[in-house]
Amino acid sequence: MKQNFAIIGLGRFGGSICETLIEAGQEVLAIDKDEDRVNEYMNIATHAVVANAQDEMALRSLGLRNFDHVIIAIGEDIQASILVTLMAKEMGVPNVTAKAQNKYHAKVLYKIGADRVVHPERDMGIRIAHNLVSKNILDYLELSDEYTLAEVKVTNSKFIGKTLLELNFRQRFGLNIVAIRRGPRNLIISPSAEEMVIENDTLLVIGATEDVDRLDDKMK
Ligand code: ATP
Repeated sequence: MKQNFAIIGLGRFGGSICETLIEAGQEVLAIDKDEDRVNEYMNIATHAVVANAQDEMALRSLGLRNFDHVIIAIGEDIQASILVTLMAKEMGVPNVTAKAQNKYHAKVLYKIGADRVVHPERDMGIRIAHNLVSKNILDYLELSDEYTLAEVKVTNSKFIGKTLLELNFRQRFGLNIVAIRRGPRNLIISPSAEEMVIENDTLLVIGATEDVDRLDDKMK
């Protein structure tokens, strides 16, 4: 389904969101106060405009309230990020995603109504660190303080040739298998209990972080 997005701030973060959304066939209005940045996205975004997002009149005249999603990708200027998030929510934008610089900034963004707060540098750091520490964890995404989505390579031969039912996966680990990645192209979504684990499979699991770590330990 086609949705419309507005991105405020065309740094590396906002810029890469813009390119990816366009590649996915979505409509994107790209906004930055810096004319050079806007020129860079003129031929990429659906529309690209120079505007200072701290100016409420400018946001209103761009019709910000009509967008399904607004992404606030302002980095260093924490005050601007907070003010623009507040205005977007006050205008009634249903989905506001804001980029936080640190956990205090994130707390404030949530308090004033941001629907989603992301910390790209911190999150990427966590993902890479987990991948460095464990050869079996190919990817790791913290969903909250307690829950994680992880991609775990099956290296323990005791798992191989058994169905998920035989492995008693949910009972034993408290984890749900969202998908099994088999080879470069095959992704088995929501595998049934009869699905058998074979050599070189990767399990996409979701659950409590401590349970994901327990599964990882079993693969060592
Ligand atoms: P990244 O890591 O994504 O490259 P950054 O953390 O370095 O970004 P900044 O460069 O501070 O972030 O901000 C990203 C963009 O947001 C910049 O292009 C900047 O011009 C733009 N920006 C900052 N404040 C405003 C504002 N009030 N209105 C519109 N654009 C803004």
